[in-house]
Amino acid sequence: MSNPHIVVIPYPAQGHVIPFMELSQCLAKQGFKITFVNTEYNHKRVLKALGEKICLGSKISLVSIPDGLEPWEDRNDLGKLTKAIFQVMPGKLQKLINSINMSGQERITGIIADWTMSWSLEVAEKMNIRRAIFWPASAALLCSMLSISKLLNDGIIDIDGTPLQNQKIQLAPKMPAMDTANFAWTCLRDFTTQKIIFDLMVKTNEIVKVEDWMVSNSAYDLEPGAFSFAPNILPIGPLLASNRLGDQVGYFWPEDSTCLKWLDKQPPNSVVYIAFGSFTVFDQTQFQELALGLELSNRPFLWVVRPDITEEINEAYPEGFQERVATRGQIVGWAPQQKVLSHPSVSCFLSHCGWNSTMEGVSNGMPFLCWPYFADQFLNETYICDVWKVGLKLDKDQSGIITREEIKSKVERVVGDEKFKARALELRRLAMQNVEEGGCSSRNFKNFVEWMKA
Ligand code: UDP
Repeated sequence: MSNPHIVVIPYPAQGHVIPFMELSQCLAKQGFKITFVNTEYNHKRVLKALGEKICLGSKISLVSIPDGLEPWEDRNDLGKLTKAIFQVMPGKLQKLINSINMSGQERITGIIADWTMSWSLEVAEKMNIRRAIFWPASAALLCSMLSISKLLNDGIIDIDGTPLQNQKIQLAPKMPAMDTANFAWTCLRDFTTQKIIFDLMVKTNEIVKVEDWMVSNSAYDLEPGAFSFAPNILPIGPLLASNRLGDQVGYFWPEDSTCLKWLDKQPPNSVVYIAFGSFTVFDQTQFQELALGLELSNRPFLWVVRPDITEEINEAYPEGFQERVATRGQIVGWAPQQKVLSHPSVSCFLSHCGWNSTMEGVSNGMPFLCWPYFADQFLNETYICDVWKVGLKLDKDQSGIITREEIKSKVERVVGDEKFKARALELRRLAMQNVEEGGCSSRNFKNFVEWMKA
């Protein structure tokens, strides 16, 4: 088989759609035809954000199927969304594949699915086509999920995934210490969500077979302990648009690229870049404290304030804040983040530590200030601060607030101490050698392509 036609199906969240798009572009370059399946809700957002800029070429077609929720229902309720997906999407995907196969286009030859969309592996099996997994987050996180039955047997968690006591565990030597209170499934909105997501993980462990290909957006040199622990996870990252001299695509919000021109005017290595990904929300008090912290830091800053990051966004800023910082602060709704992080004016990244943001910061030699919000972001913070030592945690005070003084003091420390930058540059070198010709990720990707084509 020379030119396979693959269905690619991410979990319907921004931090999954972007790396799946990146993978699709890499596969398209290798001659694959890709049918990229978004949920209807996200499909509309992606097309709207792309606007006139659709530049995916003829090899990638964007299609959609329903996610099982009504248009007005809350898709940030991951428990509800995941439950609906498992009920509705398998049948819809099968129908979609059948209709493509009958349409005269090249028949679908395989499915590449998110680990969290494991039901689509069952669809592949039923339809007798090839199946593989792409995991867009850290290998360490995947290791923790693959270890659920061991965690149960060892009495670390109960059958709902709740830790029996708060403790730090290490799944294997050289792996990051994991706080049991911070397992990805325990750091969610509420117990109902935890239970749904945890049960999905247990089910997925039954569906995924040892012989299934699992490729991940990470690099051996970033997580050697995790890749030794689970050698069947093959790193093919960091996947970045810049590796193929292209643009990052798959945004849910339209990008505001005026900030790149603004960055051009700032002194080298001066700007604090602040972005919290696609899910994080702030209450008014913390939002204002962050604003005042940026003001107090007295440095140029570029701050991504998504329209839904807090309630009543226009009234959310401290009084007079925008006027006072107008000459040195730039606020945008959504930035072309990979380009921002590679800009020479940016000096550090205040981040929620989503895995994509982490990979993008690392690949650009950025020191971090860490402000995790939920799920695996606490584990990623551990990598950044305790394992790679390229950043600092922002600590809450007794009332649970990260204060303006804490922000100012940590910005000064991370920017002022050159050791952070030196280690970040060394980490970038280590990470990027994996995707160079002959590097570990590059070889894994080639083998993966050959197998998908065979
Ligand atoms: N992102 C972006 N512009 C922004 C904020 C985020 O392009 O203003 C991208 C970022 O580059 C990353 C993704 O959105 O690829 C967010 O994924 P991540 O895993 O960091 O966080 P999540 O949104 O899943 O919490």
